[in-house]
Amino acid sequence: MATSAFSPLSEGPAGSQTGVPVYLLGQSLPFLQDWVTTQGQPSYRGQQLHSWIYQKGARSLGQISVFPKAWRQTLADVRVGRSSLYHRTVAADGTVKYLLQLADGELIETVGIPSARRLTVCLSSQVGCPMACDFCATGKGGFRRNLDIHEMVDQVLTVQEDLGQRVSHLVFMGMGEPLLNSAAVIAAIHCLNQDVGISQRSMTLSTVGLPGRIRQLAEARLQVTLAVSLHGSNQDQRLQLIPSAKAYPLEALIKECRDYVSATGRRITFEYILLAAVNDDPDHARELAQHLRGFQSHVNLIPYNPIAEAAYERPSEARIKAFVAALRDHHIAVSVRYSRGLEENAACGQLRAAQLDPVVDGEANS
Ligand code: SAH
Repeated sequence: MATSAFSPLSEGPAGSQTGVPVYLLGQSLPFLQDWVTTQGQPSYRGQQLHSWIYQKGARSLGQISVFPKAWRQTLADVRVGRSSLYHRTVAADGTVKYLLQLADGELIETVGIPSARRLTVCLSSQVGCPMACDFCATGKGGFRRNLDIHEMVDQVLTVQEDLGQRVSHLVFMGMGEPLLNSAAVIAAIHCLNQDVGISQRSMTLSTVGLPGRIRQLAEARLQVTLAVSLHGSNQDQRLQLIPSAKAYPLEALIKECRDYVSATGRRITFEYILLAAVNDDPDHARELAQHLRGFQSHVNLIPYNPIAEAAYERPSEARIKAFVAALRDHHIAVSVRYSRGLEENAACGQLRAAQLDPVVDGEANS
């Protein structure tokens, strides 16, 4: 697995000598076993460390009571890499939105979506997002930085611990553009699969598409589902909504997606936000169908979730149905995704790390 290439642990001897914090979360079992031996400890301590950080939820080495105290005291700069809960909100439908504070004080959002048989986590890959899509609250807030592997894995453990239920599904649909942070995202996917135990087939990575990045992703040979945000049925319309479409025309994006399907044999999901009187005409559906002819794909329609900074509106039910029917007429597999957590601004595109009051004494506000 690829974690070592991106880890501060690989950049030199871990521990207090460097004064730079090192993070254990995101590291594989073999890596942790090697690491403890470089610390002069027997390799079975690596297994203990792995189980304490991934299963028992240890937040610091000080909590790992099976470790000798004298050793723990030498590891002042070694961090597990957990974030702290800043705010927590529960929507009426049971969706839980977490505002998490990272070590440098930045805030990110994560959403837990429980249902009868699943627990889905919608996780962030960046603090903010540079893509500036016109309908998305995260994009309106600008970009701060990429997330590190431990900051992505932490989001999943946080939801799992808080809801007392194993996370079964993951969607990289929180804040950020995952393919602008590919190396760390791919490493996090491996860790969440091998160390946290979530099947790659239950993970979805959503991207707006960046030249060459989908091809690169194919080379990583993952089993995750790729979702591509199209949102427009032609280049002009897409460009109105997505500034990055200028450097990456729709035709080129679709071509790269076709290559991805040939290279991986995996179906792609195309996301298409429905905005009233912008891209919701049945003619747009027919145009979209032309692009996707003979393509191993699935269209996921997302009726717009309102955000304060944009004047778009969600189409009527009749209009949504007509769009679905037009796609089906052209034999396109289609479903409509009604986002959950809407009234708590926890739905797709509504995440913005708003400044809310922090939790007090570990008690969550809701
Ligand atoms: N950067 C990734 C992930 C974005 S969030 C991407 O672009 O795919 C996941 C999905 O929610 C994307 O398809 C995104 O375009 C969509 N989305 C963003 N804002 C939305 C809004 N206000 N209403 C509905 N969907 C939205």
